Amino acid sequence: MLGRLLGELDGFVNVGEAARYLFDAPMQGRQVPCGCGRPVSQCAFWKDKVQAIPPELAERGAEVVRMRKFASLLMASGGAEASKRYRPILEAITAVYRKVAQETGCRVIVDSSKNPANALLVSLASGIDLHVLHVVRNPHDVVASWTKKKGYLATHPARKVIAWWWSYNLLSELLKLKAQSYQLLRYEDFVRDPGPCLQRATAAVVDVPPAMDFLNGSEATVRMQHVLAGNPDKLDSGKIRISDGNCPSAGSRGWLVNLTTLPLQLRYRYWPAAATPILRPTSTTSSI
Ligand SMILES: [Zn+2]
Repeated sequence: MLGRLLGELDGFVNVGEAARYLFDAPMQGRQVPCGCGRPVSQCAFWKDKVQAIPPELAERGAEVVRMRKFASLLMASGGAEASKRYRPILEAITAVYRKVAQETGCRVIVDSSKNPANALLVSLASGIDLHVLHVVRNPHDVVASWTKKKGYLATHPARKVIAWWWSYNLLSELLKLKAQSYQLLRYEDFVRDPGPCLQRATAAVVDVPPAMDFLNGSEATVRMQHVLAGNPDKLDSGKIRISDGNCPSAGSRGWLVNLTTLPLQLRYRYWPAAATPILRPTSTTSSI
């Protein structure tokens, strides 16, 4: 949802989870539709860009963004000093983003690939300034959301979701070491007051605050966007309402979630419950 709104800003283009999709052969094999409703292989915006990445390169890209490779990726050099292992992948990423920028005239590409390793990989590509917006959500709602069936998205057991919640959040914080800017945004603060959160999110990326006339309180008017691998219940265009996702509660798993996530809940001020908004220097924003 945040990516959809950022994609409405002048000079911004939202590409969904493009960095993940382009280097995830199984995801491509599942024929996940583009945000325009067409299969990606028939979408005029993505067809050629996806075809330009050979399957073996997509597989190699998926291999280097595995969580267990995060440390070596963090130590890797980019640009002219990139190793042979990363160079073809980085060149492919740069080529895709550059083509998106040329065709749309945008200055900022919003890529909401959730795996922080995808952002780390992008930070090594030439000509790209990485700005990170780290969105954190209450783990109870994350567990409820990921254990519920939604369209083509797979469901996952709670213990796996909790492990991901830990690793994705801690590794996202490490992106401060590589990004031009880093901000932390709580999902709950965003849905409560989207306008100011959106303003602050863009402040580190562009000098002049972009107009937000498509947004009125918690209502927004959004256009069709060519997003890859997006959440299927977030692809509607026209007038949309920004609200908390009506997740069922974690129910009997609530104690397990609290027990296993307490330190990070304290860090992000979910425990004890606090409503103080935090947005410090969420989706990933990459500016070319
Ligand atoms: Zn499309």
